[in-house]
Amino acid sequence: MNSVATLEKITALCKRRGFIYPSSEIYGGLANVYDFGPLGVELKNNIKRLWWQRFVHRRDDMVGLDASIFMNSKVWEASGHVASFSDPLVECKACHARFRSDDEGFDMDANCPECGEKQGFFDAKQFNLMFKTQIGATQENSSDVYLRPETAQAIFVNFKNILDTTRQSIPFGVAQIGKAFRNEITTGYFIFRMLEFEQMEIEYFIREIDWEKTFDHWQDEIMNWALSVGMKKDNLKFREHDDKERSHYSKKTVDLEYNFDGNFKEIYGLAYRGDYDLKQHKLTFADQQTGESYTPHVIEPSFGLERTILPILLDAYTEDENRIVLKLNPNIAPYKAAVFPLVQNKEEIVKKAREVHQMLITAGIYSAWDHRGNIGKRYLAQDEIGTPYCITIDYDSLEDNAVTIRDRDTTKQERVAIDKLCEYIKSQIVKHEA
Ligand SMILES: [Zn+2]
Repeated sequence: MNSVATLEKITALCKRRGFIYPSSEIYGGLANVYDFGPLGVELKNNIKRLWWQRFVHRRDDMVGLDASIFMNSKVWEASGHVASFSDPLVECKACHARFRSDDEGFDMDANCPECGEKQGFFDAKQFNLMFKTQIGATQENSSDVYLRPETAQAIFVNFKNILDTTRQSIPFGVAQIGKAFRNEITTGYFIFRMLEFEQMEIEYFIREIDWEKTFDHWQDEIMNWALSVGMKKDNLKFREHDDKERSHYSKKTVDLEYNFDGNFKEIYGLAYRGDYDLKQHKLTFADQQTGESYTPHVIEPSFGLERTILPILLDAYTEDENRIVLKLNPNIAPYKAAVFPLVQNKEEIVKKAREVHQMLITAGIYSAWDHRGNIGKRYLAQDEIGTPYCITIDYDSLEDNAVTIRDRDTTKQERVAIDKLCEYIKSQIVKHEA
C-alpha cells in the first residue's frame, strides 16, 4: 500500500463519488454487505471484461461457463461442503453472540466482546458457512437448497457437458465469473470480506504428470494479471500453505497476498487439487486417441473480484497539494474521457461539445459530460474518479475543429483535431493493455 492511501480515505472516496455504498443504508445498513454504485459497476465490469479477454478469449485451451447459483444439494454433499465447510464458533451464554474460537485475539476466559458480560461461552461448534433456503411453495413439498459458497463446483459437474459440446481435450480449462455466498461472522475489512461476493475462477484439467509445470504457469499468470491491472509489485507476495493449512487432497497451495496496511492478506489462491473433485463426482475422461480412460487432475487459480478492486484503488490513490488523483489503468477507469464545453451560455460551443461526447460514446469510449462550474473544478472532479482524459471544447474549436485534451497524470494539455480524437484516445488506452 502506498504511504498516503488509507482504508478510511478509500472508503470515504468510494461513498462520496458513487463507487461503493453500504447496503440498505437508509434502513441502517447490513453488516458486511455492500452495493456498487454508478462508478463501481463500471469498474467491476471493466475488470471482468479484461479478465475474460485474457483468460478465455486469448487462449485456445480455455472456455467459459455461467452456471446457476442454485444447484442440486447432492453436489454439496459429494464435494464435502455439507459435512465440513465450517468455522468453529462459540456462543456467549448471556447474549448468544457468536465468535470464531480460532480468531486471533479471542479468549474463552475473557468478557464477551459483544455484551461485556462474563458468563462464559458455550463450547465451539462447527457452524456451516453455506446459506440454506428452500425451493417449493409449501413446507411439506419444499426441499433444502444452498446458495453456492464457490463457483468451482458448477465447473466440475459440467465437465462432461463441456467435453461433449466443445472441441476441448486434456489439457484444457473452464473459467467462470459469478456470485458466491458465505455466512462468515468475522467482521469485514470494507469489501475485503463480504457475505456475498464475486469470484473469477478457473479449473484447469490436466494429466497428473503435468501438474508441476501447469502450477508454475498459473502462478506466473496470476502475478502477471495482478500487475497488469495496476497492483504494485512491492505490495504483493506469494505464500505457500504448510501441511496443516492445506486441504487434505491438495499437494500444493499458494496464496497471492496483498499488503493491506502492513498486513499481508490473501487476495488470490492457486491450488493443485489432485483428482479429488472429479473423483467425488465420479467423472472421468476417455481419450479418443489412445482409448485410455482416466480421472484428470485439477489446478485451480481463484481470483476474488472485490479483492481485486480494493488493492487497485489503494495503489491508484495519490494526493498532492492541490488534488486527489486515482491513477487507474485507463482500461479499468470507469470513464475513459470527460467532455466539457468551456462555457454554458454559448450555444455553438455546447452543441459542438455534445457532438464530440456523442461521437466518443458511439466509438465505444465511455465518456462523462460536465458543464457545471469552472474548468479547474471539473478537472479535479474527474481526477478523483480516475478519468484519464478531459476534453474541452472552446471558442477556437468553432474555428479549427480541434479540442484541448488534458492528461490526468501529467496535467499536460494537447490540441487534437476532432476527427482524430477517437483514434488518439484509443491508441493511448491500448498502451496500458497487458
Ligand atoms: Zn455476550
